[in-house]
Amino acid sequence: MALDTRHLKAVIFDYGNTLIEFSHAQVTACDTALAGALARHFGTPDAARLKEIRDNDRMAPYRTPEFRENNLVEITANLVRDLFGVEPTGEQIADVLRTRYEVFVRVVQADPYVAQVLERLGRRYKLGLLSNYPDGDAIRASLERTDLAQYFDAVVVSGDLGVVKPHPAPYLTILNALRVKASQAVLVGDNWLGDIQGAKGAGLQAILITQWKTLEMFDREDHHVEPDAVIGHLTELMHLL
Ligand SMILES: [Mg+2]
Repeated sequence: MALDTRHLKAVIFDYGNTLIEFSHAQVTACDTALAGALARHFGTPDAARLKEIRDNDRMAPYRTPEFRENNLVEITANLVRDLFGVEPTGEQIADVLRTRYEVFVRVVQADPYVAQVLERLGRRYKLGLLSNYPDGDAIRASLERTDLAQYFDAVVVSGDLGVVKPHPAPYLTILNALRVKASQAVLVGDNWLGDIQGAKGAGLQAILITQWKTLEMFDREDHHVEPDAVIGHLTELMHLL
């Protein structure tokens, strides 16, 4: 591990469990609201089966060889078919998705130190946000609500591209938007596969953050590479970069 800051021009952040906590409490709040929306239309869902499907949905993009991001309409329709054995209407799906969006934006909170770190780093580097999430609008609304949007020169969300990190496409897209080369950028993230292996594979440096409880866990494989640094709290970046 040896972070090299000499040619660094851009710092790119993952969102969930990097800048903001998105762990058990937040996931539970989102899934509870989802269950409520389903209950309004179809009856009370089987809680255990719902959890099983949601846990599987969250990991599904990493299990496809092309790292395909979930399509929200598709997975919601499948959810309704599986839980209730009926075909949802477009309006029912739209209402369930509106609930998902609203609860996500409501539960995501940013501690004050996050803005301080971004403000400080933004004086010396271009800043990017690169998130794996199926709903780009929800991420952008969340960035407005947490007041973090102002610090980013570029925001790229997997839901807008159709593929998730570690696929190189999200990395190439944000490097292009920031107008920097891979060798001039570092990615900060919590996801071993999507963030660390993805960034290193695309030619960026990578910093692993272990501050929050990461829900997407991956086995370390022989061909995997190590991050260039590991931090236990976001504020440590002020000394590293
Ligand atoms: Mg994350």
